[in-house]
Amino acid sequence: MAKDNTTESLLRQCADAGMRRTAALEACLRVLVEAPQPVTLQDIPKSPAFKVNADPATIYRLIQRLEERRIVRRIGFHSRAAHYCLRQQHHHDYLVCRDCGTVEVLDIACPVAHLEKQISTESGFADIDHELEFYGRCAACQ
Ligand SMILES: [Zn+2]
Ligand SMILES: [Zn+2]
Repeated sequence: MAKDNTTESLLRQCADAGMRRTAALEACLRVLVEAPQPVTLQDIPKSPAFKVNADPATIYRLIQRLEERRIVRRIGFHSRAAHYCLRQQHHHDYLVCRDCGTVEVLDIACPVAHLEKQISTESGFADIDHELEFYGRCAACQ
């Protein structure tokens, strides 16, 4: 039930941000809530959590709008290999393969978390956040 509650609260967040509640939006959010790793646009309709029919263009548009509203974060640099995850889930930094675009969660404590307080103090900015991606070549691509 916790996952359903998460999807519900995301749907409310989307409604507040002016997005219409549709079955496809709900299905996309459900996939993102249940995904243990960031997913690609191609992964979304393949997930068992995606229980509706939606064409790739619809999924693409929905994810773009979720990204613009900062509900979803995009990871990776090829548009073909872009991965998506929810921002409200636990903070992670990522490791991206620059050849195949594979994205892995960085398995170490966030290396720059301590800088946020210092940057906030020195700049006067509130709500400091960061996105950190390391690029390299995965074992399969070496
Ligand atoms: Zn690779
Ligand atoms: Zn971090």
